[in-house]
Amino acid sequence: MAELSEFDSSLHRTALAQLDLAAARLQLEPNVHQVLRLPRRALVVSIPVRMDDGNTKVFLGYRVHHSTVLGPTKGGLRYDLGVNLGETTALAMLMTWKCALMGLPYGGAKGGVRCNPRELSKQELEHLTRRYTTEIILLIGPDLDIPAPDLGTDEQVMAWMMDTYSMTQGKSVPGVVTGKPLIVGGSAGRREATGRGLVYALYQAARRLGQDLRGRKVVVQGFGNVGSVAARLLWRDDTVIAGISDVKGGIWNPHGIDIRQLEAHIAEAGGVGGFPGADPVSNAELLERPCDILIPAAVGGQIREDNADRIKATIVAEGANGPTTPEADVILRDRGVTVIPDIVANAGGVVVSYFEWVQGLQYYFWRESEIVSRLQEVMTRAFNRVWALGAKEGTDLRTAALMEGIRRVAEGYRVRGLYP
Ligand code: GLU
Repeated sequence: MAELSEFDSSLHRTALAQLDLAAARLQLEPNVHQVLRLPRRALVVSIPVRMDDGNTKVFLGYRVHHSTVLGPTKGGLRYDLGVNLGETTALAMLMTWKCALMGLPYGGAKGGVRCNPRELSKQELEHLTRRYTTEIILLIGPDLDIPAPDLGTDEQVMAWMMDTYSMTQGKSVPGVVTGKPLIVGGSAGRREATGRGLVYALYQAARRLGQDLRGRKVVVQGFGNVGSVAARLLWRDDTVIAGISDVKGGIWNPHGIDIRQLEAHIAEAGGVGGFPGADPVSNAELLERPCDILIPAAVGGQIREDNADRIKATIVAEGANGPTTPEADVILRDRGVTVIPDIVANAGGVVVSYFEWVQGLQYYFWRESEIVSRLQEVMTRAFNRVWALGAKEGTDLRTAALMEGIRRVAEGYRVRGLYP
């Protein structure tokens, strides 16, 4: 196998271990396997930014295209201090499997800038985004590579990216990014799509396990775009949201947290901490509290060999990308825990990104109810296909999902053939 040390990171090791496991089960042709272990291309850029104090600060940025076999590449842009080449490459690989599994005509990509967006002013964020976009401009475009929001980025960042790209083209190009504000070609339902899709997948898992979600205790780690929407929808459906955390720490109330009151508290306090009627708890402790459903919706590598045997939940729905290490996967599987893997559980985001892209290319926009019902249909179909494959092959859901995603990419690779 080709030299991989330049991509080394814990998430990349996880992504490779997952690929190798699924490839072995698929008896994947070794020539195809070795191509899929490496990204198609990876760009590292430096991003000098004039800060508000007049000084220049240089940030490091990345954009990685993992595979272009099934179409243009698609994947989020992350602003986080943990961003590096290995993590970005691993996340691009996960996007390839996710898009293939969901039946989307895309390959996988990912981008990132190593920074703490909470420490940057709005103006600094705008400068950073515009310069990053300019540095990677050769790699993006509506039929080439289409970024979207991820950890630390949002609609505003996408609007700046779209504007920067459009300025270089002399015309407005909405299809270059998804997750844009509605007014400039965003899609109804995109902001809620990942959390909503996760809830649809969870309902299917509960149905297959013969469980009723009402009255079940849920813990949500991370109260960003994914965790907050999932928590609100599940709370509305009468589950007991017993614990929630954000970057600063968590809160716990086994009798249930009122999400509407919590949202009002966050609007004033800026985070979940200090919410009356719940006890403080650390992020690490929260994962181990007694509950039925655990939704890790923060960052990668949270469920590991050293805490997996203390997780009490019987269903883990992965809102984050890569929250469980391969060692923890084995422990959870042996303990009978059902893990809905990231490439299924959080795929709602990229599914509605696809809807947004299609709407933008056609200049014809759909109603929110139409988006929601199509999302439900795609999530339900994908979950049930993965469930059936897992049952047939005798594997956990992650291995089944990866097998299906990788099989499709390998099939595309086989029919296209190796150039030249
Ligand atoms: N960042 C999201 C993900 O990890 C969405 C990517 C997209 O919409 O392109 O799936």
